Amino acid sequence: MNVAAILRQKGRAVTTVQPDISLQEVANKLAAKRIGAVVVVGAGGEVRGIVSERDIIRALATDGTGALAQSVTQTMTRQVVTCQETDTLDELMAMMTARRFRHLPVVMDGALVGIVSIGDVVKHHVAEVEMEATAMREYITHS
Ligand code: AMP
Repeated sequence: MNVAAILRQKGRAVTTVQPDISLQEVANKLAAKRIGAVVVVGAGGEVRGIVSERDIIRALATDGTGALAQSVTQTMTRQVVTCQETDTLDELMAMMTARRFRHLPVVMDGALVGIVSIGDVVKHHVAEVEMEATAMREYITHS
């Protein structure tokens, strides 16, 4: 299973925001869409950063509610780690575990073409394990 197969099932829609948006607007968007992170993109669609619910909590703890009026650029992570459609489920799990984040934007030829969350990774991993268990049971039953 690779990223292309995951995107075929979940679709390629990515919730993005412009860099001039406030943290309050990001929070509204996360709540409305029931997601954990948005990708910040420039005018040309290039990835400029990522901001997750954890960043908002950190900003609130540091600066209080005044943080919500700040620009997202003050809070976002600028060094975004991305993946490609050819990356495997195992590679994604290793990246998320080693770097302790739960979102990986998918970039192909410089263009943002999808996003994979830890929820997608766990869902497909469980499906793979179940398929293996079924195949093993059938093998044992019929041998
Ligand atoms: P998350 O676990 O995705 O809520 O994110 C935890 C922290 O990692 C936050 O500071 C995010 O901005 C950051 N983060 C999330 N995804 C990525 C990524 N793909 N590349 C770099 N930083 C990220």
